[in-house]
Amino acid sequence: MGKGDGDMRAARQAMVQEIAVEVRATRKHLGKEALDPRVMAAIGKVARHAFVPAVNRPTAYENRPQPIGHGQTISQPYMVAIMTDLAAIEPTDRVLEIGTGCGYQTAVLAELAARVATIEVVPELAKQAAARLRDLGYGNIDHRAGDGALGWPEHAPFEAIIVTAAAWHRVPPALIGQLAPGGRLVVPVDRSKAAAQYPFTAQQQDLLLVSKDAQGKVSERTVLPVAFVPLIEGGKG
Ligand code: SAH
Repeated sequence: MGKGDGDMRAARQAMVQEIAVEVRATRKHLGKEALDPRVMAAIGKVARHAFVPAVNRPTAYENRPQPIGHGQTISQPYMVAIMTDLAAIEPTDRVLEIGTGCGYQTAVLAELAARVATIEVVPELAKQAAARLRDLGYGNIDHRAGDGALGWPEHAPFEAIIVTAAAWHRVPPALIGQLAPGGRLVVPVDRSKAAAQYPFTAQQQDLLLVSKDAQGKVSERTVLPVAFVPLIEGGKG
């Protein structure tokens, strides 16, 4: 390990502290002062700099989303943290992630869950993320290139589902169907009049927590306003 590794570790710990501060600042939305320590530990462990293009490594631990190519982004660390916390993942859980992107959120989930299934609509990103996560030593992840709005019936049901792109005006029905009784689905929903255009600042998106109780009854709670890239459904943007 060279000096660079130590620098990255220090930057990562500083990022974890910034997330804690932002969580406290948004406690009214989250209904809590601090996230699950297991979530914070996972964020403190995953080498975020390994998920961004080489030129972006010096800023990889800044608490903001960043471009990763193909017009896509790596999610803001605070957002990854609160979505993971809302999903309330137990070590025995099977988790589905929609929107693998660079695979950063996937890695955080793989630290906490028994198994993670992840779907990415851009084949090149899916391929790169699969190789990257394998090289980093994760052995509990299944990858697929395709439309994640349809879920992954062969691996269902899932105790937790996280969607990292904004669905248009409604939660994709297939995902609710593939949620196990007692399961949690975390999904941004875009309620804007017009379709999203970069940099998505004009969008009205809400992060939703959809819960299915033991009897299969579904309820939802709006957590806070967010800004995600659009979920591409049915082959159109
Ligand atoms: N989870 C990533 C976030 C990536 S941004 C992270 O940790 O940073 C959202 C991703 O969703 C993009 O890579 C985009 O290509 C992908 N996406 C958009 N629509 C999708 C769909 N219908 N199915 C699967 N992935 C989709």
